[in-house]
Amino acid sequence: MNITKHKWSEIWNLNTSKIQSLELIYLINNLSSCCRIVLKTTSENDLITICYNYNLSFKSSEKVFYIKTNSYQHSTHNNSESIKCREYYISKKDELTLLLKKEFQNNNHFEIGELLDYPSCCITFFKRYFALGQLNEMNFNHFINGETNSSFYLNNFLIENDIGLLSHFPCNTNCVESERIGLERFTFLEKEFPEIAKEFKKKLRCDIYLNKKKKHFKINDFNNPKKNYKLDNCQIINFK
Ligand SMILES: [Zn+2]
Repeated sequence: MNITKHKWSEIWNLNTSKIQSLELIYLINNLSSCCRIVLKTTSENDLITICYNYNLSFKSSEKVFYIKTNSYQHSTHNNSESIKCREYYISKKDELTLLLKKEFQNNNHFEIGELLDYPSCCITFFKRYFALGQLNEMNFNHFINGETNSSFYLNNFLIENDIGLLSHFPCNTNCVESERIGLERFTFLEKEFPEIAKEFKKKLRCDIYLNKKKKHFKINDFNNPKKNYKLDNCQIINFK
């Protein structure tokens, strides 16, 4: 895809994913107050330059881990070597960055969610189901029954394809606060990166089939109604 590179080009050049680059761009443009991204350690110098240029502060995780280069955090790569990565916590204020790092170190989900501006209803939802061990694979099975409609702003099933507007999992298919965040980000993208907005809208408007037993989903492209999956015992969300 041909992303307009005249703005924030150094961020696109980090060679991470669209979604992670956008996390930084939302932060710079005051659409979020903190973010966490996963970056290969060799990109750290580039991140230092970006943080210097945009008055951002960052901290890195103590632990190092290895992920595949073709994972969604690094979708611009096309081989599958393992690369050494760290988590990076970024905000405009040192104290906020430090706090975010601390909460991640302590796995304090509620505090992390609050720092990342997730809606309180969604944080509560996550915490409740996480505690019950029911969120191994985040999906909407908990609260939809049969077929339901939802706004494409809330579709976070395509994150692994590097497509999505939200950084969190919404608490239900009609979460008003999540929809507000999705709309705000989409409006920003339409103005600054119309190619990305167009791609996101096209792909996020689709039917997601949730298979309870196997806990997986299948996608029926909303713009291609001829492609009709016949899946029994599925719950369906029509993202429009
Ligand atoms: Zn919510």
